[in-house]
Amino acid sequence: MPAQTGIANRREPFHCQASRTTGGKQTGETMLGLMQDWPLLIHRVIDYAARQHGAREVVSRSVEGPIHRTTYSEIHIRAKKVSQRLTQDGIVLGDRIATLAWNTWRHLESWYGITGVGAIYHTVNPRLFPDQIVWIVNNAQDRILLTDLSFVPLLEKIADQLPTIERYVVLTDAAHMPQTNLKNAMAYEDWIGACDGDFDWAQFDEKTAAGLCYTSGTTGNPKGVLYSHRSNVLHSMSLAHADALAIRASSVVLPVVPLFHANSWSLAFSCPMMGAKMVMPGPRLDGASLYELMEQEGVTMAAGVPTVWAMLLAFLQKEGKRLSTTKQMLVGGSACPRAMVEVFERDYGLTVVHAWGMTEMSPIGSLGSVKASLSGLEGEALIDLKVKQGYAPFGVDMKITDDSGKELPWDGKTFGRLKVSGFAVTKGYFRHDENILDDAGFFDTGDVATIDPNGYMQITDRSKDVIKSGGEWISSIELENLAVGHPDVAEAAVIGVAHQKWSERPLLVVVPKEGPTIDKAGVLAFMEGKIARWWMPDDVQVIAEIPHTATGKINKLKLREDFREYRLPEG
Ligand code: ADP
Repeated sequence: MPAQTGIANRREPFHCQASRTTGGKQTGETMLGLMQDWPLLIHRVIDYAARQHGAREVVSRSVEGPIHRTTYSEIHIRAKKVSQRLTQDGIVLGDRIATLAWNTWRHLESWYGITGVGAIYHTVNPRLFPDQIVWIVNNAQDRILLTDLSFVPLLEKIADQLPTIERYVVLTDAAHMPQTNLKNAMAYEDWIGACDGDFDWAQFDEKTAAGLCYTSGTTGNPKGVLYSHRSNVLHSMSLAHADALAIRASSVVLPVVPLFHANSWSLAFSCPMMGAKMVMPGPRLDGASLYELMEQEGVTMAAGVPTVWAMLLAFLQKEGKRLSTTKQMLVGGSACPRAMVEVFERDYGLTVVHAWGMTEMSPIGSLGSVKASLSGLEGEALIDLKVKQGYAPFGVDMKITDDSGKELPWDGKTFGRLKVSGFAVTKGYFRHDENILDDAGFFDTGDVATIDPNGYMQITDRSKDVIKSGGEWISSIELENLAVGHPDVAEAAVIGVAHQKWSERPLLVVVPKEGPTIDKAGVLAFMEGKIARWWMPDDVQVIAEIPHTATGKINKLKLREDFREYRLPEG
């Protein structure tokens, strides 16, 4: 019976190779796939962009002033020149190269050039205090520092405290190069000018470090997060798709989010990977400048923090302008206020995608696009969904736990510590030995959140900012979002203030839109009925400006310091 024999013959080898019985236990032998080893290296992204989308433009507002236009083909060649020059300067695998620069084509191509030799781009946030910049450059032991013209005076003041820097490269040409005493200073165009771009990218393991970005460290010293080639490529690939950043070859993307803020939210890689046109705003991030670029270049998607979008919105409203090509706004870095979602969606016809993440996550951990089961939502219910920080994309596992590490339910009500794991989530900090993961390998984000039955996460607070009143938690973010919905409030912050009976009670601090004062009772009346009674702030204080951190978040630490002497009204 040939048929039977055939079956037996086919099964036999399968049983022999894939499964054995040892001591009553089923074990197996690894059978490797027969696919090619094709390490996920960053330079493959720019190789791909140059080959498939070579003529696609990268348009920048240059630091010198004029609009500059280039293409992925040119960026590819110039990135190779950067690699060549770095090699001539003795830079090798694992060396750190600092960049202190705005979003421009030069900054972008330098990332590819640096990673192309296996060195590490270390983005330095110019909004940090000079002391913090000194600290992180020394901690990273950067060898070369690339900087924009804007930051030369700052560097001249601190350069004597940066002993590891062997050369400063100013991202400009000879004509704009200032007189400076910075060590071995050169104009970038001269620095790469003698190279011909005939360079073979270095080859190394995909787990090799590629980028270094320090968290702003509102407490203690900043901590370095070290991305790998593999994590950057996978992260960017998993975020480009339609239900995340929705980047296509036809997209025109404006990353207002700086390259120095949390790995550029992946856009430096996901745009070339998809062949999208990039529009780089350089140093001018005010509403009028952004509007001009968006209209002139036909921007379809723009990404930035709520503070930047508030400036754009104020400009649009004041000037009575509309965005004619923009379809999607990516808002992240801090909670997007409900009023902002409403205005952008309803009055300007834009799709708001609210994203959450952190430097430690490369950085995106969730996005608020609409799942199929919720596609019927409209009006207030749709806004309710969009105000949430969204669901995790592939590559991010999420859970909420209590203080003992026990998992909490996804019921949309229970708050817990938000913990994450994934291929682009850090497992430790640069030059720190301690283990930062729980037993299951999850990283505690320091955020407090709920997750609803549909998987949508909502940040309630940072664990250190949540207001603990009578043993219960009050979300400062929710109160802030509600307060900025009042027509006279430009910005709002809520902090916990000591209270004898309840331990802490919320204080609402507001910046009025016009003039030095505001009707405090009117603001409270506006909030009344929209939240539980015991969440209502005990008082409202008016200030001229709310302090912000280097990454544009409300600086609650500073605000708490400013209000240290403040006492809540009796009653
Ligand atoms: P920093 O260096 O200031 O900590 P990060 O960008 O890494 O900079 O900050 C990450 C934190 O920012 C998160 O842990 C969270 O508290 C906050 N955050 C980011 N996005 C959002 C968002 N959409 N809503 C609320 N909070 C957010």
